[in-house]
Amino acid sequence: MVNVSMVRIAVIDREYCKPSKCNIECIRFCPINRTRHKKAIELSSDSKHAIIYEDICIGCGICVKKCPYNAIFIVNIPDELEKNVVHRYGENMFKLYNLPIPRLGSIMGIIGRNGSGKTTSIKILSGLIKPNLGRYNDPPDWDEIIRTFRGTELQTYFKKLAEGKIKSAVKIQYVELVKRKLRGRVNDLLEKVDERGLLREVVDKLAIKKILDRKVQELSGGELQKFLIAAVILKDADAYFFDEPCSYLDVRERLRIAEAIREFIDVSKKYVFVVEHDLMILDYISDNITIIYGEPGVYGIVSKPYGVRAGINNYLEGYLPAENMRIRKEPIVFRIQVEDREILKKEFPILKWSKLIKTYKTSGFKLMVDEGEAYPGEVLGIIGPNGIGKTTFIKILAGILKPDEGEVLVSVEKISVKPQELSPKIFSEETVASNLRRASPDTLNPTTWIYNELVRKLGLNKMFDRYVEDLSGGELQKLAVAVSLAKPADLYLLDEPSAYLDVEERLSVAKVIRRIIEEKKKTALVVEHDLMLQNYISSSVIVFTGTSGVSGHASKPMSNKEGFNILLRELGVTVRRDPQTGRPRVNKSGSYLDRQQKAMGQYYMQD
Ligand code: ADP
Ligand code: ADP
Ligand code: SF4
Repeated sequence: MVNVSMVRIAVIDREYCKPSKCNIECIRFCPINRTRHKKAIELSSDSKHAIIYEDICIGCGICVKKCPYNAIFIVNIPDELEKNVVHRYGENMFKLYNLPIPRLGSIMGIIGRNGSGKTTSIKILSGLIKPNLGRYNDPPDWDEIIRTFRGTELQTYFKKLAEGKIKSAVKIQYVELVKRKLRGRVNDLLEKVDERGLLREVVDKLAIKKILDRKVQELSGGELQKFLIAAVILKDADAYFFDEPCSYLDVRERLRIAEAIREFIDVSKKYVFVVEHDLMILDYISDNITIIYGEPGVYGIVSKPYGVRAGINNYLEGYLPAENMRIRKEPIVFRIQVEDREILKKEFPILKWSKLIKTYKTSGFKLMVDEGEAYPGEVLGIIGPNGIGKTTFIKILAGILKPDEGEVLVSVEKISVKPQELSPKIFSEETVASNLRRASPDTLNPTTWIYNELVRKLGLNKMFDRYVEDLSGGELQKLAVAVSLAKPADLYLLDEPSAYLDVEERLSVAKVIRRIIEEKKKTALVVEHDLMLQNYISSSVIVFTGTSGVSGHASKPMSNKEGFNILLRELGVTVRRDPQTGRPRVNKSGSYLDRQQKAMGQYYMQD
């Protein structure tokens, strides 16, 4: 047997560690502290958190189990990886190994769990953080950093970065932050960054003319997203980074930004990196894929670059052949829903509506809806562009708006809404627990069904004491979904529950939504633009077509296959299925498959 020597990584999550509130069980029960003169764990000099000495700790894991706040993480990893440490934030903090390889001529897509180090990698490659090679107390200078990467593409890259020859443009992940930091009108702000004289073309391509006169504070999530993407493209940079560019955008807009990146950035001369969890779009944008794996919040290892198809498939399979590494026990399978609506139809509908028409007098927007119904336990997907009348339709169903023609024949009393845009402001209480308690006291009781199926499955039980102000985008999303599902209601509306979630979290949120709705025998309408995910969440879909801001048409509920076909036909895009994983892949416009599928009218190949 080969003896692999291991090193220890101990991480203390400072958001969770609260020595003033616990009985410092970690320090009291540590076997090293109890039996020897040395200490493996003690309090920091300011007593604000524990410190673990990785060279003394034996990794028994007792403190991990004893900590009442789940603040301690200890893992052992092979010693040989240590030569690849790129950065460590500080003592008992997150550690990153390797980096995505900057390569001209191809767009590098990056996938990985939240907390695995994607943003850290971007910050290093964009020059915002100087990598310390793990030596946070004694950081190396550029010469040493460059020498460390000798013989690799990173050597050349860091050399240029150190000499100030790489100018970076970064589309940050959490677009809502911009509202707090930027003031002014979209047009003025874009003109200021238009270093390439492409303002008009980019505005046309991203279809943002309508928002040019608006102030940043007035923009919706999707508009903010497009504004920031435009600003990044307009900069004359050497390296472009797009951290989750799809959140809040509909499918047409997602495809548009993918095209804009390719059209306006000369990939042969510029470095381009994209982090994205909508795998159909990431597949469409990227040429290569880098996977970041490890233990979220503790350490991340950046994989070698793979071709786009193999990279995404390997990620879903959970095995990386080039590193001979299993990154997950189970593959991720976005099973196609085959549930028969006929079975649900045996029950009385929870909602039923006739043909409906509604026109807003002030804006002139007209919505026409085909008749339909929804059954107890049903998750109905809603697909279509933004600004097409989805919210108007839901307000009519909820009795908030009166249609000009038609009526809601079977209506609901209470609806519970998960809004699209996320910010701490959408919550009425300060902490995770108090928001959950307000939605339903059962959510805090470990003996209840809702605690086990909702709160625990989303991992919220580990963050009861956290303040919403301190939560990451993904954590806010999981809390928002849980709060809305825990409330008593007949109809649940979840608007884009995937934003800021990684692929694994998307899958668990989808499972939770289905499970809760089936068990409660209520109905959910889910607006979701990640088609791979929408196919998983919903058993039928309503398709909205028309012209955003002018008129919209809502179809009757139909099978996912039929609905996706209509949506894609509207977009003029065909999608095939990957034979290995079954995931949807966008065909290149004009390719053999594209032409063949269009000729057959099969825009969405499901079989
Ligand atoms: P991702 O983008 O993959 O979600 P990040 O690179 O943002 O991951 O973060 C990786 C880990 O590093 C997280 O656990 C995060 O808490 C930690 N981290 C990020 N920034 C800092 C910082 N400035 N100081 C300490 N830890 C940090
Ligand atoms: P979606 O939910 O699909 O984004 P909405 O139903 O919110 O779309 O809006 C559809 C269109 O109707 C938009 O162009 C919007 O500006 C317009 N609209 C929405 N509410 C009103 C209102 N109260 N008065 C006038 N126009 C409105
Ligand atoms: Fe002490 Fe064991 Fe915790 Fe290490 S893992 S600090 S040895 S209790």
